[in-house]
Amino acid sequence: MIEEAAKLIAHSRFLIAFTGAGISAESGIPTFRDRGGLWENYRVEEVATPEAFKRNPRLVWEFYKMRMKRMKEAKPNKAHLALAELERMGLLKAVITQNIDNLHREAGNKNVIELHGNIYRVKCTGCAYTENLLESGRIEEFLKEEDLPKCSECGSLLRPDVVWFGEPLPQEALQKAFKLAERADVCLVIGTSGQVFPAAYIPYIVKDNKGYVIEINVKESGITPIADIFLKGPAGEVMETLLAKVKRCLKDKGC
Ligand code: NAD
Ligand code: ZN
Repeated sequence: MIEEAAKLIAHSRFLIAFTGAGISAESGIPTFRDRGGLWENYRVEEVATPEAFKRNPRLVWEFYKMRMKRMKEAKPNKAHLALAELERMGLLKAVITQNIDNLHREAGNKNVIELHGNIYRVKCTGCAYTENLLESGRIEEFLKEEDLPKCSECGSLLRPDVVWFGEPLPQEALQKAFKLAERADVCLVIGTSGQVFPAAYIPYIVKDNKGYVIEINVKESGITPIADIFLKGPAGEVMETLLAKVKRCLKDKGC
């Protein structure tokens, strides 16, 4: 199975990757669905919806600052690093991710499409102001501040620039992702339950356009029924082996 997958990747013309929370599990970031109803000890509807933010912005900011701190400590794992290597080799054309943890960029991938936003970005609830706290160098100061964060332009409340439950996805990113999926002849689907739409349409679009879907997950997911190859196991381990086999295949003329 893994040999077949390596061969498909080595001979691919337009490879893309579609990733979810499972690719970051080995970096120590908890996934969303893998624990019994609670997410990092919070109820989703109390911390990750627009209604929750209206009702209790303090609780929502407490949750997001906690996640910012946790994600800041996390490092890309072997799976993120293998995807960065595949991009440098010229094989991987884009990573489409549902993750907000920034680890694909930290691993070195340049073409990353974030469908659900980024933990380090904030945006104003009153004007068009946005800020990337890593790039502005304000992250530490921001995390220490106990008052609710306010916009430096208009004074309104700032919010995390992530997609909450019940909110539409950033249209530009989604359209770009769908276009990439139409072009892809091979799509690696890594660590996603495939239950969050419209993001989960990506592998279906690849299949509709006669592309191959290779899935990596510790267990079967919503995508598994349409996967051409299912590689069962932790993303880091599987991707390390797969990358080695792709490299071997590229060297070996008979592959
Ligand atoms: P999910 O939590 O619904 O599913 C995680 C999937 O990863 C599961 O199918 C699980 O079997 C698999 N998995 C767990 N450990 C794995 C491993 N070591 N190797 C391979 N697979 C593994 O995640 P989702 O499908 O991405 O959807 C949840 C939503 O929550 C996303 O939209 C995302 O925005 C958000 N979220 C993001 C992060 C992050 O940025 N790291 C973390 C949690 C949730
Ligand atoms: Zn503002």
